[in-house]
Amino acid sequence: MNLKKSFTLLLLVLCSVSIFAQRKGYWDQKVDYTMDIDVNEKTFQYDGKMKLKYSNNSGQELNKVYFHLYFNAFQPGSMMDERLKSISDPDPRMVRNIGTKENPERKSRIEALTPDLIGFQKIKTVKYNGSDVSFKEDGTILEVTLPNPIKDGTTVEFDLTWQAQVPEQIRRSGRNSKEGVAFSMTQWYPKMAQFDEFGWHLDEYVAREFIAPFGNFDVTIHINKDYVIGSSGKLQNPAHVKGYVENAKIKSKNNKATWHYKAENIHDFAWAADPKFVVDSAKTKGNVTIYIVYLPSDKEVSENWKTALGLSTDFFDFVGQHFGAYPWNTYTIIQGGDGGMEYGTATLITGGRNLKGLVGVIFHEAAHSWYQHLFGINETVDEWMDEGFTSYIEELAYQELFERPKARALNPIGATYLSYYKLAKSGKEEPMSLLADYYNTNYAYSTEAYSKGGVLAEQLGYIIGKQNLNKTFLNFYDFWKLKHPTPNDFKRVAEETSGMNLKWYFNLFINTTRTIDYAIENVTAQSIELKNKSNFAMPIDLLVEYEDGSRELFYIPLREMRGDKPAENYEIYSGVKRTILTDWFWTKPNYSVPVSKKVKKAWIDPTERLADINYEDNAYSAQ
Ligand SMILES: [Zn+2]
Repeated sequence: MNLKKSFTLLLLVLCSVSIFAQRKGYWDQKVDYTMDIDVNEKTFQYDGKMKLKYSNNSGQELNKVYFHLYFNAFQPGSMMDERLKSISDPDPRMVRNIGTKENPERKSRIEALTPDLIGFQKIKTVKYNGSDVSFKEDGTILEVTLPNPIKDGTTVEFDLTWQAQVPEQIRRSGRNSKEGVAFSMTQWYPKMAQFDEFGWHLDEYVAREFIAPFGNFDVTIHINKDYVIGSSGKLQNPAHVKGYVENAKIKSKNNKATWHYKAENIHDFAWAADPKFVVDSAKTKGNVTIYIVYLPSDKEVSENWKTALGLSTDFFDFVGQHFGAYPWNTYTIIQGGDGGMEYGTATLITGGRNLKGLVGVIFHEAAHSWYQHLFGINETVDEWMDEGFTSYIEELAYQELFERPKARALNPIGATYLSYYKLAKSGKEEPMSLLADYYNTNYAYSTEAYSKGGVLAEQLGYIIGKQNLNKTFLNFYDFWKLKHPTPNDFKRVAEETSGMNLKWYFNLFINTTRTIDYAIENVTAQSIELKNKSNFAMPIDLLVEYEDGSRELFYIPLREMRGDKPAENYEIYSGVKRTILTDWFWTKPNYSVPVSKKVKKAWIDPTERLADINYEDNAYSAQ
């Protein structure tokens, strides 16, 4: 961090009112991995050695620990395989169609894997503080029983050796991706499971997604010297491997080069390797080096990657300014996998895209560097906070830096609202508090996590005010960076920042499928009659245009908020008189707004941020 930045931060801290939204007694576990990996590029197998220092800060003794063995999901009969066979709308990447286009008959791709194409992580030995201990592999979870417990406040050491086979590329990780990347190495090492105040998070690898303790990684990879690696963390020996510096003196032994990486304070480490990879890089104004590692499959693809690199540096500066500074000094965008997935200081994305698609996916995955990596959100539990806030940042940045819509909508994520409305009316919606893997359909999961989660953020701005929303994001960063916050922690920061009570909003929007529906019922010479047609009450902005051409903005606070939203600086409100009315409350469906002049037009929510699923009756126009 440079001096100027520290000063800005100091100013920010001084300027923010003294808010105390940090949880007293918060603790988290810490990990420190040193790994040595020897890759056989012909068999797609590797041998792994790990030394893991594990710090227990939980306030209790631990008699067992658990690791994830994600590669084991890619075996016939696994939970992931069975889920693919039974879910009504499986991920198209993970199934093959043995029927016709018109009458598809989808079969799990995992079911068809032969032994040489399955994935596995076979644990050979586990040592605990130097002594062998017993362990049990059960699906994608490794359970290690300890002869003596890990005492609170101590750091212990595990030594693991294992053999792994990289599966056929089906989901996220794998060999020989559709685009031709040889190794997409994600979820590839035995990963210590998360233990926190809610207990152990022992989610089998079914589809989604991840959570782990923060810590340091020191990773050494031995692979055929013709391969180029893109990875999490910072490469320690660029002069001795292919791809990173001109005239590198590649050091090799038995035809293999050694790649050495270090990363600090991240919670997932990923890499990819291919002999055809090329590398480029650029620096952000905030001094973060952005690497791109991709297959230059044709001229257009290469051009797109170079353009995207420039936009990515702008992206990190933009997001850093609005959501908090990026704390690591590298970020690597690697071609690999089957779509896009976020990892610590890196992402794997498919790369043979047009420019729009490439920029979109990079902005999305890079935004996860905040919502999931800087804030270690538990994606298995609070999927909407991770994907929703990420999609929100992605959209803001996309419109600001890349494609600015001609007529800028007041609500930057209007399309996201429409996708949520469609789901809400489909009968398939489930509460967003549901565990990520358990949704009945992929449709409901993705629309809720990505769209409804984004709506939660923008609509929060409607409730507490746009400026308070912006402050909330920055205050949240000050309190929760590099920790594992929950939705309630975000709510508390929003409450402290705005001075409003928000229990009702977070509860109803996250834990239920209730929808919002207001209407202008009637307009008379004396009043505008409003109705809450739903069982979800909200504060109301009502813009009125009188016959004489003058305008007035009525603001009706919701009683539960115990506060008023400050005036907002939208263009359409400039020069408009703002009148704060007495509060409304959820037990009362009707509200009467007194008027003294003849009304020509009236709109509920003129900024279009209220998620009213039937907005057709929100406006009035005199005949
Ligand atoms: Zn995402």
